[in-house]
Amino acid sequence: MPVESHPFQAEVVQLLDLMIHSLYSNRDVFLRELISNASDAIDRRRFAGLTDSSLQGDSEPLITLHLDAEKRVLAVEDTGIGMTREEVTQNLGTLAHSGSAEFLAALEASRKQGEAAPGLIGQFGVGFYASFMVASRVSVVTRKAGEEEGTLWESAGDGQFTVTEVAREEPGTTVTLALREVEGEDELADYTNEWLLRSIVKRYSDFVAYPIQLRKADADPAETPEALNSMKAIWTRPDDEVEEEERKEFYKHVSHDWNDPLLHVSTRIEGNFEARALLFVPSVAPHDLYHHENAHRGIQLYVKRVFIMDECRELMPEYLRFVRGVVEAEDLSLNVSREILQQDAQIKVIRKHLVRKILEALVDLRKRDAEAYRAFWEQFGPVIKEGLLDVGEKRERIYELMLCASTQHESQPASLDEVVERMTEGQEVLYYLAAESLEVARRSPHLEAFRERGVEVVLFADPVDEVWLQRGPPDFEGKSWRSVGEGEIDLAEGDDKQQAEAEREEQAADYGTLLKALRAALQEQVSEVRLSSRLRDSAACLVREEGELSPQMAQILRQAGREVPETKPILEVNAGHALLAKLKERVAAEPGDDRIAEYAELLFAQALLSEGGRLPDPAAFSRRLGELMERAL
Ligand code: ADP
Repeated sequence: MPVESHPFQAEVVQLLDLMIHSLYSNRDVFLRELISNASDAIDRRRFAGLTDSSLQGDSEPLITLHLDAEKRVLAVEDTGIGMTREEVTQNLGTLAHSGSAEFLAALEASRKQGEAAPGLIGQFGVGFYASFMVASRVSVVTRKAGEEEGTLWESAGDGQFTVTEVAREEPGTTVTLALREVEGEDELADYTNEWLLRSIVKRYSDFVAYPIQLRKADADPAETPEALNSMKAIWTRPDDEVEEEERKEFYKHVSHDWNDPLLHVSTRIEGNFEARALLFVPSVAPHDLYHHENAHRGIQLYVKRVFIMDECRELMPEYLRFVRGVVEAEDLSLNVSREILQQDAQIKVIRKHLVRKILEALVDLRKRDAEAYRAFWEQFGPVIKEGLLDVGEKRERIYELMLCASTQHESQPASLDEVVERMTEGQEVLYYLAAESLEVARRSPHLEAFRERGVEVVLFADPVDEVWLQRGPPDFEGKSWRSVGEGEIDLAEGDDKQQAEAEREEQAADYGTLLKALRAALQEQVSEVRLSSRLRDSAACLVREEGELSPQMAQILRQAGREVPETKPILEVNAGHALLAKLKERVAAEPGDDRIAEYAELLFAQALLSEGGRLPDPAAFSRRLGELMERAL
């Protein structure tokens, strides 16, 4: 087969350019990345071997660093699963991560600000491509287990790479780096130095489960070198005996995240069966947080020290899908499959235990370090709230983690505890308002009476909020949820209440004719026009029957392809507003005045706009408004 030349995907070209020209201070991590990939590849081959032993063959898992100091060549060889020609072309030619778009955006932004690139590299992590920080040329020889053909991939990190067929005796992969020369001012360390390599492996890859050996070109090939890494499974050691640094490196190894984790949870289950886990919550949301169908690297499952699978989704609910780490179960079968896992009672118990531990750790963080917790919630809050959709979950526990904006506490989000603490006695419901943004929510006319009476309203603006609120969420500390935009709201109490009622009756009689005229004009748009007890400054607002779908929710459902019946809102008007008083007089003076209908349309449009809604016919609205302005001059 001839040598095929491929261009790198545009994102990769940018990335490589960045890698090669930036003065990223920690270039040592290239080796960590290559070893991590090698270790993953061996994991995958072992897993494939569980069901098809021919794929495992009789190869011993091994990662070998070949060093030829004279020629300035360093190679990382593994006995892993290998790649087919298509896989190498795909994996090492594109940025597979769904984060590539974000990466480019961040790159663009940092260039504009004239910022240095290192932060970016650290933030995104770039795996294999990190090789080009230290190598002028990289070649990969790989053969997939179960296939005969091997492939040679080569690139100098310019715009392209080549692939061609090549013989490889055994399945596995060898990544060979032609190390760049160490130049005077350049801070490039000398990676031909054996001791430097040893120290990097010790530092970053000590816990890798397979031996990492160093073979020097001038050494006796008959001699088997000792492993550079201790291979000690970090999760089996008592928490207080593990150094913080080691744990961080382990996190980076399992998660392929370049940032330090936010927190870790180390736990064990003893009793009928045994299990241990070392879990981490990342400090930065992974880019595929919302594309999790094709996400990888969740929780790794080990059974008796043997790697069973990556991304064991049975161990964590979806709403905690950002948790990373390792779970080891002593009493599961090595041949356990996904299907078995889904049914397995032990797995269910482990999962429950882990969820509890993670939630506890997060509540603890909230109490311990409010600022760190806020940063966490900002990134992961919307995902955690997905848990409120899962009726199988103890949803009350999620309330404990929740931070939300509110009318009372404008500068910083509050916990629900705080909101309940601030409630006046006798208040039975948690009032909330969900809108498409906090800005829209804060300015909503629905809040006027609440503001006036100092009744706190919790504000929500994540798309998921509409969904869980609509599903009848459980009470929080005996308080039920109530939307400020639904049903009749009357905040008056005691004597006040009686007085308010009397006033309303009077107004109803007084405004009867106007309401009727408005109803007649807005038949198509609204189901009812009535006087409001929730407005103070605004002339009108739209409300819904209790339990009815909010317009935002209806839109979410429609976008998801669901059929949603059209429902009409209720128009509430403010009898205390000058405009309404004048309209009332107008109707009394001249019941057939055309302008009433026009004003009705405008009132409706105003109310719709103020809740962030979209006008069905914006052109008609602006024509009407224009005419009105003209006449008023
Ligand atoms: P990441 O490891 O974060 O996915 P990389 O750029 O390091 O990103 O690698 C891209 C992909 O290439 C990997 O996901 C894996 O599928 C494949 N790959 C890389 N190195 C190896 C290897 N040594 N053996 C088999 N596959 C590999």
